[in-house]
Amino acid sequence: MSVEARTPAYQLLADEIRAQITSGRLRPGDRLPTEPQLCADTGVSRSTVREALRLLASQNLIVTTRGVSGGSFVAHPTATQLAEALATGVHLLLANSVVDFADLREVRELLETPTARLAAERRTDEHLVRMRATLRDVYTADIDDVFRAHSEFHMIVTEASGNSVLAVVMRPLYQLSNSRMLGEAAGRELWARFNAEHETIIEAIERRDADAAEAAAGAHLSQIAVATHLMAPKFREQHQGERALDEGGFRPEAFAALVAEGEISGAGGA
Ligand SMILES: [Zn+2]
Repeated sequence: MSVEARTPAYQLLADEIRAQITSGRLRPGDRLPTEPQLCADTGVSRSTVREALRLLASQNLIVTTRGVSGGSFVAHPTATQLAEALATGVHLLLANSVVDFADLREVRELLETPTARLAAERRTDEHLVRMRATLRDVYTADIDDVFRAHSEFHMIVTEASGNSVLAVVMRPLYQLSNSRMLGEAAGRELWARFNAEHETIIEAIERRDADAAEAAAGAHLSQIAVATHLMAPKFREQHQGERALDEGGFRPEAFAALVAEGEISGAGGA
């Protein structure tokens, strides 16, 4: 049986409006035609128009307001929204085994060491203060806070690189990488080591020593790779059977439970 379906009309309409937005024909703040106008222009039903607008709103491309002066307007894009949309997409790919954690780590390896280099060259004093603020006493701090702080550290290094595209591309990697799994399986000694490695990176960035920052970031990633490899069997053992990401395939309810627990999208990023 073929599962191929015709593209629904609402999606075609959404594609058309999206193309107008991404090409710049419609600018942030511009008002879209009214629903009746869109129906008249395109010949589709009111419910199709509404569905298309809902889709665009869910993609953060438009905002819809109610009331006399209400309507649908082209949204002002933000890097955070884009990063979140990207994270959601990568998330889906992970859940369906189209990509795996090893792929994510590989991308980190490709991007992270040159990013540390740029951070050493371009950082401000404020970046340094914020990087230091992510260091925790990993033996006493709440472990969720340790995850969050680790992830935050890498985001600040990326910000310090001064390249906003890097920040957009890398945020999903930190949100999704496997540190949560590491943290659960490995315990606090490993986090203490990661913290020490973060300190080495900070010191190099403070000295504006690009070579040292790059080397320290590379060494940190190698440690993460080794730890991930060592901890993976333990993780599988802990999560056997009832989990969504095991060999049993993808089950939406199990996946949702995992997300709710912060197991997947959570605060990751060692
Ligand atoms: Zn780290």
